[in-house]
Amino acid sequence: MKKKCIHCKHPNKEGWFYCRDCGKQASKSPFTTNLYMISDMGKRTDVELTEQGIDDNIKEMKERIYA
Ligand SMILES: [Zn+2]
Repeated sequence: MKKKCIHCKHPNKEGWFYCRDCGKQASKSPFTTNLYMISDMGKRTDVELTEQGIDDNIKEMKERIYA
């Protein structure tokens, strides 16, 4: 899989989140997308999606996964 910094095209073989060359975000935030997917999985109508809520959701999910 070829990865390059979207800013300076410096090769990013290791898949760093930040470019080792220019220090900017090397790719379009996959983490944000993943976070929304994760919170979507645990979506419940009684959960408010504040940042704290997302944290709690992930904590709760991990507890479910590792239980
Ligand atoms: Zn760069």
